[in-house]
Amino acid sequence: MDKRFAFYFKDENYEIGLSNKNFDFPDFFEGKKYAILRQVHSDIVLKVEEPFSGREGDGLITDKENIYLIIKTADCYPLIFYNKEADFIGAVHSGWRGTYKNIIKSFKKKALEYATETMVKKYTKIIVGPGICGNCYEIKEDVLLFFKEAGFKDNIFKIKDKKIFLDVRKAIHHRLLAEGFKSENIDDINLCTFEDNSLFSYRKNKTDKRLYNFIKKKDNMKFQNKI
Ligand SMILES: [Zn+2]
Repeated sequence: MDKRFAFYFKDENYEIGLSNKNFDFPDFFEGKKYAILRQVHSDIVLKVEEPFSGREGDGLITDKENIYLIIKTADCYPLIFYNKEADFIGAVHSGWRGTYKNIIKSFKKKALEYATETMVKKYTKIIVGPGICGNCYEIKEDVLLFFKEAGFKDNIFKIKDKKIFLDVRKAIHHRLLAEGFKSENIDDINLCTFEDNSLFSYRKNKTDKRLYNFIKKKDNMKFQNKI
């Protein structure tokens, strides 16, 4: 594994990276095309037709080749989506707010502009990247109430020494399955940004540094069964 990444994957179709502290943004992205957002903990998902930076939102989707979709995180969860059959890729920023507001639902809605619902549900692969885990993420009661009102069960919370902990990862999995994505297509990296010192955690030390999570569709893609 490249030591700049917590996860890195490259084949003839995609390049996917979830960076760690060793990653240097200008060094990696110099001369490359990418789309990067001004992330605002919303449920806004933007279609990428050409490279840009600084548009407001928390999700990106495209069928364009050779543009990196980038999501920044430090405790919130990055979600990477790719669907070879339906020919789209995506990246989403989902902390507790995005998960509560259901950016996953917004993402699926946008994906339906690229393919049928069956294609989207059946063939979309999802990588759940590093984020703060359910043992480390203490919340106030108001957040608990938000999630309860949204219909979440108690199993996304833990009470320890009268403190409340929220398992955003578990809530994300619930959201993904509720939208019809398949559990066998979800690949969870299962790393905690708070516990793993190779990752940035805002909660731990209020860092302004971020992990960069990206996917790019390579420009030599050939579809055997394109619909
Ligand atoms: Zn943890």
